[in-house]
Amino acid sequence: MTDDSPGRVQSAHDLVISYGDAEFHAACRCGRPLLTIRPNESFDLFGPVWEAHVMSLVDQ
Ligand SMILES: [Zn+2]
Repeated sequence: MTDDSPGRVQSAHDLVISYGDAEFHAACRCGRPLLTIRPNESFDLFGPVWEAHVMSLVDQ
């Protein structure tokens, strides 16, 4: 199941959200856990955390 656009540098890194224990778990496709939120919290929280993860890899 790949839908990566050609030319996307971060194709190995994508935001993956799963649901468990009444919480939403965000992880990167590379396997790194990023953030857990409650259902009453905003999914908007995921974006900046994932971006920070990707940016930290670019710097290396
Ligand atoms: Zn990643």
